[in-house]
Amino acid sequence: MLGRMMHKHLLISSLLEHAELYHGGTEIVSARTEGGFDRTTWGEMGQNARRLASALLARGLEPGDRIGTLAWNNMRHLQLYFGVPGAGLVCHTINPRLSPEQMVFIINDATDRMLFIDATFVPLVAKIRDQLPNLRAVVLMGPRDESAAAQIDGLLFHDDLLAEGDPAFPWPEIDETAPSSLCYTSGTTGNPKGVVYSHRSTLLHALVGNQAEGFGITARDTVMPVVPMFHVNAWGTPYMAAATGARLVLPGPRLDGENLARLIQAERVTVSAGVPTIWMGLLAGIEATGADVSSMTRTVVGGSALPPSMRAAFRDRHNIELIHAWGMTETSPLGTMNFPLAKHDALPGDQADLIRQGQGRPLLGVQLRILGDDGQPLPHDGQTQGELQIKGHWIVDTYFAQEKTALTWDGWFDTGDIATIDADGFMIIRDRSKDIIKSGGEWISTVELENIAIAHPKVANAAAIAARHPKWDERPVVIVQPRPQSGLDEAELLEFYKGKVPGWQIPDKVIFVETLPLGATGKVVKADLRAEYGDVLWPEEGRGL
Ligand code: ADP
Repeated sequence: MLGRMMHKHLLISSLLEHAELYHGGTEIVSARTEGGFDRTTWGEMGQNARRLASALLARGLEPGDRIGTLAWNNMRHLQLYFGVPGAGLVCHTINPRLSPEQMVFIINDATDRMLFIDATFVPLVAKIRDQLPNLRAVVLMGPRDESAAAQIDGLLFHDDLLAEGDPAFPWPEIDETAPSSLCYTSGTTGNPKGVVYSHRSTLLHALVGNQAEGFGITARDTVMPVVPMFHVNAWGTPYMAAATGARLVLPGPRLDGENLARLIQAERVTVSAGVPTIWMGLLAGIEATGADVSSMTRTVVGGSALPPSMRAAFRDRHNIELIHAWGMTETSPLGTMNFPLAKHDALPGDQADLIRQGQGRPLLGVQLRILGDDGQPLPHDGQTQGELQIKGHWIVDTYFAQEKTALTWDGWFDTGDIATIDADGFMIIRDRSKDIIKSGGEWISTVELENIAIAHPKVANAAAIAARHPKWDERPVVIVQPRPQSGLDEAELLEFYKGKVPGWQIPDKVIFVETLPLGATGKVVKADLRAEYGDVLWPEEGRGL
C-alpha cells in the first residue's frame, strides 16, 4: 500500500463541531419574533442542536425524513439548520410568503413529517393543518404557549424537545452524499420544484463560497444574513459562519431599512447578504435614522441584478462595497461572484465600473458555458449572448422525487438565463430567457432598461417588460414606481434614456404604478406585469387574443 490519509465524510455536523470546539464563546444574536433579542453562543448552539437531533430521533424519525420549517432568521431556526441534517434528517425550509395553496402543495409534495413554525405562522398553519395528512406534528419554535396550543391540534413545543434531548449526543457518521436539506424554487417561472442538497454539496459550497474572493468571512467578522433562512440556505452564510466561528446576527422578521440600519449600528455588523430590494430599503433607512453603519465593510448582493447606481451610492456615501453575485436555488446558490482582477485596476473608471457591474466569475468547482439557438457553444468574447448553462459540485442533477435528470445529455444544467461571458470568465446576465424583449429580431435586455430607470433620482423601482407589437413583435414598456411626490413624468424618464442605450431600445411607453408586485423572494413578478400590461401597445380590438 502506498499509504493513506484519514477519510472523513464532509458533514454539516463537522462545521458546528468546529465552532463549538474552537469558537464556543462567540456570540449569536437573534431577534425574537415578538420583539427583543436572544443571545446565545456557538457553544450553546452545539449543545442545543445535539438536543434537538436526539429528541427527533427518539420520537421515531428516520434517516431521510423531511422536517419542514416556516421560520424567520433566528437562533431556533439555526438549531434546526444543524440539528436536522446532523441527525441524518432533511431540513426543508419553506418560504412563508408563498400562498397557502402553494405551501400545502410543497409540504405534501415533500411529505414532511414534522413542521417547525414561528409564532407568526400559527394562524396560517391552523387553517391548513387538516390538508397536511403526512405531518405527524407541528412544533412551535418557542416555549409552551397555551393560546397557540388551542389553535393547532397536538401542537408540540421546540423548547420541550430541547429539554428531552441529550446535549452530549454524538453526531452520527453519515455518508456525505446523503441528503441534508430541501429547498423549493420560488416558482416565478413555473411550478415549484424541490432541490435536494447533500452534506457534501453544502460543505463544498460553504468552503469555496467563503474564499477570500467569496464571502471572505473570518472569525473577526459579525455576519448578518438578511437573505432569509427559508431561501436557499440563506446562501450558505450560516454554514460559512460556523466554519469560521464568526459572530452571527440573525435579524428576525423585521427587515425594513430603518430596523436593519439600527441593528447594524447596535451590533457592529461587518458583513451581510441579501437581494437588491433589501439594500434599496437600507439606503433610505440609513438616511432616515442617521445610523452609524461604519462597521460594515461589504455586503453580497444577488437574486436579481444589482443596479449600478446602488453600488455607487453605498460606496460613495457609506464606504460599503456591494459584491455582486449570481445563482439560483438549483445552484445552492453561489455560481459567480464579482471580484475584479489586478489588471482591471489600470482601467479608466467607467470601464472598471462595467466589470464591477456584472455578475462576476465562476467559483472554483463551477463551470459556465453559453449556447446559441442551434445548441452549439458560443465564444466567451464578452459580446455574444446565449443560454447560460452551469455544472459543478453543488449544482442540481435531479429534482426532488423525479426520475429523470434535469441535465442536458452532456451533463450541464440549463439556467434559463441569457448571458455573455468574457475571456476571463466574467459573466453578465442580460436577461431571463422568458423576460428578454425581441424587437424586430433584435434582443433588448430588460435588466439594462431597469438599471437606467432605477438610476433616475425620482424612481424608487422599475421593471421592463416585452409588450406585443403589431410591427416589431415586441417592444419595451417600462413600469415605474416613482418616489413619492417626485412629479416624474413619461417625457422626463424617456429623455433620461437618450445616449444610454441605442435609440431603438428606448421604451415605447412608461406606465406609473404605486407599487410593483413583488414575489416570495423579493423579486418583481414580471409574469403579472406582462399579464396586465403586455397588450398596451396592441390595437384595442385585438387585445387579450
Ligand atoms: P426563482 O427562479 O423562482 O426566481 P431563484 O431564487 O432560484 O428562484 O432565482 C434564480 C434566478 O434569479 C436566476 O436564474 C437569475 O435569473 C436571477 N438572478 C439571480 N441572481 C442574479 C443577479 N445577480 N443578476 C441578475 N439575475 C439574477
